[in-house]
Amino acid sequence: MKSLHEEALWKAVTTRDRSYDGTFFFGVKTTGVFCRPGCPSPLPKRENTVFAFSPTTLLQDGYRACRRCRPEEANRLDGSVKTVISLCRVIEESEEVPTIKELAARVGLSPSAVARMFRRALGVSPRQYADAHRRERFRNALRNGADVLEATYDAGFGSTSRVYEGADAHLGMTPKAYRDAGRGQRIAYTVEMTPLGYLLVAATEKGVSSVKLGDTRDALMEELRLEFACADLEEGGECLGGWTGQLVEYLAGRLPWPELPYDVRATAFQRQVWEHLRRIPSGTAERYSEVARQLGRPQATRAVARACATNPVALVVPCHRVVPKGKGLAGYRWGVERKRQLLQLEGAAVNDS
Ligand SMILES: [Zn+2]
Repeated sequence: MKSLHEEALWKAVTTRDRSYDGTFFFGVKTTGVFCRPGCPSPLPKRENTVFAFSPTTLLQDGYRACRRCRPEEANRLDGSVKTVISLCRVIEESEEVPTIKELAARVGLSPSAVARMFRRALGVSPRQYADAHRRERFRNALRNGADVLEATYDAGFGSTSRVYEGADAHLGMTPKAYRDAGRGQRIAYTVEMTPLGYLLVAATEKGVSSVKLGDTRDALMEELRLEFACADLEEGGECLGGWTGQLVEYLAGRLPWPELPYDVRATAFQRQVWEHLRRIPSGTAERYSEVARQLGRPQATRAVARACATNPVALVVPCHRVVPKGKGLAGYRWGVERKRQLLQLEGAAVNDS
């Protein structure tokens, strides 16, 4: 896992690929200087290069910021990520799914550049994002009690036959099973040791459905069995390896925060909060009240805190990036000490005395 990722990062360094800007940084052992990918300075040797996803780590290790590429000023939400986010909003707000040409024209780029940016930032094409978004709306409408017909139109599918085409694949299970705590559903899981304790990751084929941190393997397994009382739990699994590997590397400080797909049951409001949390840049923290305000619900601070406290996928939905006003870090479902460590790992200033 590690070598693969480092290879990708090294490739970005050697090709001076600026689209990785803000995603990671590299330090050069021989000069003691650190840079962002794309720096015009001469390339270091592979064996003298170290990677980090926050300038803080490198500064702590005694590296100085490069004067040419000024990595300490790198905005974590770099240009291409911002572009992808803005196009996601366009897709979400359109009645008809925009074509990639239309999207590209909006930001003055070529369709292939837009496709590449999407794949890099989200792992999917704009078309797949649009489909996923509509299915999300469909699920939410169903969950909130709409009937299938209503939910269909609400989600912009146009006709119910479109929904039933492979409804199984879209929902990750049949609509009825969806209301039954995973009955008849296969969930793969794995438990790994990390710097933050044991990490349990469980997933369907569609995405991560549970991520927990804890002191013992047994306690985590117990929780998982309660959560998916009706599902078939299996140790190991194909998708799981890659997702778990990325989380382990992230917790070890070797990879940036990975934006993994998740597949969980939630209310519309929870999902809205969680999606917002996934857009808080790594290395920063937002206040509960700010999140509520940005969601257009300034009175809903406590509901936001509740949505954080009930997040079933630690790390994947980074609820550790939300803190209260004033001092302290408030609670964290997996222990406030872990919240502190996660914020430090990401290079956020922690106001905790
Ligand atoms: Zn540089």
